[in-house]
Amino acid sequence: MLKKTIKNLPLRYKLNSIIVAVTAITISLVSIAYYIHQNQVIKEEATVELATLSRIYSDSCTAALSFDDKNGVTTLLSSLAAKPNVRAASVLDKNGNIFANYLAPDVPQSMLSAFLPHQPRADNKVTAKPELFHLRTPIVLDHETIGDFVIVADFSDIRAAQSRFLLFLGAVFSFALFVSFFFSSRLQKHITAPIHNLITTMKKVSESNDLSLRVNSETNEELGQLCSGFNTMLEKIEQQDNLLEEQKENLRFLATHDALTGLPNRILLYDRLRKGIARARREKLEIAILFVDLDRFKNINDTMGHDIGDILLKTVASRLRSAVREYDTVARFGGDEFVIMLDSLNMSDIEHIATKISQAVKEPVELQGKQVIITPSIGISSFPQHGSTPVELIKYADVAMYHAKNNGRNASQRYLPAMTSLLHSRFNMENKLYNAMANNELSIHYQPQFDLQSGTICGCEALLRWQVDGHYVSPVEFIPIAEDNGLIVPIGRWVLQQACRQATHWQRPGQPPITVAVNVSARQLFASDLLLDVEESLRTSGLPASCLELEITESMLMADVEKAISIMDRLSAMGVEIAMDDFGTGYSSLSYLKRFPLSKLKIDRSFVRDVLHNADDAAITKAVISMSLALKIDVLAEGIETQEQLDFLHQLKCHYGQGYLVSRPLPAEQFGALLGVGSGAAAV
Ligand code: C2E
Ligand code: MG
Ligand code: MG
Repeated sequence: MLKKTIKNLPLRYKLNSIIVAVTAITISLVSIAYYIHQNQVIKEEATVELATLSRIYSDSCTAALSFDDKNGVTTLLSSLAAKPNVRAASVLDKNGNIFANYLAPDVPQSMLSAFLPHQPRADNKVTAKPELFHLRTPIVLDHETIGDFVIVADFSDIRAAQSRFLLFLGAVFSFALFVSFFFSSRLQKHITAPIHNLITTMKKVSESNDLSLRVNSETNEELGQLCSGFNTMLEKIEQQDNLLEEQKENLRFLATHDALTGLPNRILLYDRLRKGIARARREKLEIAILFVDLDRFKNINDTMGHDIGDILLKTVASRLRSAVREYDTVARFGGDEFVIMLDSLNMSDIEHIATKISQAVKEPVELQGKQVIITPSIGISSFPQHGSTPVELIKYADVAMYHAKNNGRNASQRYLPAMTSLLHSRFNMENKLYNAMANNELSIHYQPQFDLQSGTICGCEALLRWQVDGHYVSPVEFIPIAEDNGLIVPIGRWVLQQACRQATHWQRPGQPPITVAVNVSARQLFASDLLLDVEESLRTSGLPASCLELEITESMLMADVEKAISIMDRLSAMGVEIAMDDFGTGYSSLSYLKRFPLSKLKIDRSFVRDVLHNADDAAITKAVISMSLALKIDVLAEGIETQEQLDFLHQLKCHYGQGYLVSRPLPAEQFGALLGVGSGAAAV
């Protein structure tokens, strides 16, 4: 126990104790040695003094003893009173009997025998008391011993002096100890201060984990070096710790963020959504989830490459980020899908925010020196209205987004419960579409296009039909699905081949050619080898290139205007006509219009429908027709349903028309029959 306590004593106390102990031992040994030596010296001096005195007195007594002069001897002995140490003395005759004696005044006569016992001559130093010295000196005359002189001296005063000396030594010893303790503790304090600092800092570091702490040391000896070594070690650990912390932070960031855009990933989104829902539930707030999907992003990836696709995604990510408040979450959900979580929101603001987000995304982006426009489809769900878990809310926003896509993209749509069943039917449809070609469910109908001035049919538009489970599915429903999953490429190739083959049969010698217009989707234009497909279809069918017209929409060209122009140029060089479909519904960028090698503009039927009743539609229709005339491009009005519409367009000198008034899209045989009416040209 004591051993353990000593072991655990602070170093300062241990060193102190060692120094004090060493000092004490040294002083003690020196004192003891000195004391023994002094004792010896004093004894020897006293013995010599007594021997000298004895010799003097024995010599002086010789004559008196030989003459038996007792008085003389007694007188001589009484002179010993001058020596206070001498307690008794006697002169013995040759028989050993006391001849004369002397007793110090304070020694009683009765003590004589005790003081002066009969001592053998040889033993001069036998003492009755330790402090009494006896000395017996023979009295010799002419070589004959005539008696003895015995003297007893008391050296107890020497002892007292020795005790005083011992006391003095003790005092010196204590003082020396005190001084040694005092200086050693001061010294230890000074020496052990850096160690103490070291220990204090070490404890603080381990308690607070604060690696920026340092030990103060002003010296450069071993302890100073130890402290600075400790500081260096701390510095290195701190650096390593910072590095580790940074790496941990990076790892944490990577685990919860998307590497490309730096936005939170699904994991973090779900986490924030969970917390957001809990808070919203407590504070009775609403949360909106916006599921943002980029329209036709695949085209960009397919045509411009994935690197450019990545740049676009990064741009969109930063635009989304700056379109919302700092504390809203914008996450990359995957591919071209982003999810925005808007906290503590008033749902009446949501349309406004969705528009703001949509506009931010739609700003043109410059990629490889080209202006590219990408539109978003946005689905919106909200807590607590639509769901109470992150999974539900995201799922419903996704469903609403699909709905926005199906309704022509570039739109935002709030979730409605009915949409889920619509989505299911879409998935059903998608599954069935995969087998549509193999099951011979696809067919093509041809809608006549006619010359408004002459009234003759000059061509037709090939329109895809899908008959599944006994009824027709509108192309408006299944074409976007086929575009999304890429099925449009083989289906479009099949339409092109069929239409060319069919149109070859409808060419009549000596009659104006019958043009067949085939709709081409963006996926076909950019991602497939459309030029090869067209070449192949024309070659195998034998249809003159000038009888084939490809219908392209404005919005799909905008994905990559330069590439679109280059493809169109090559098609046009082959002799194929190019028509701009649904004109007026997209961007209607006049500057691009000039650069496209167009042979025809098709005014969208949404303008034609109200052309007689809506002044704006009439103005747009008029403007498009006169622009086409000025640019020397043919113009066709879609969706003519009434004679009045026809007359109006005729008046405006619109070249061509298409619509239910003349004919709905017809199966190939019926269209052929229509062409066969009269002398081969159908009159309207
Ligand atoms: P579109 O190219 O604008 O085709 C014209 C659409 O208007 C056709 O609808 C046609 O039936 C319809 N239509 C024509 N005249 C009238 C009219 O007087 N009144 C009304 N209300 N509608 C009229 P459809 O066949 O449902 O096709 C819809 C769209 O599907 C087409 O619009 C086209 O964008 C797309 N589509 C059809 N076939 C194909 C195809 O083979 N490939 C591609 N990529 N798209 C196709
Ligand atoms: Mg069309
Ligand atoms: Mg159209």
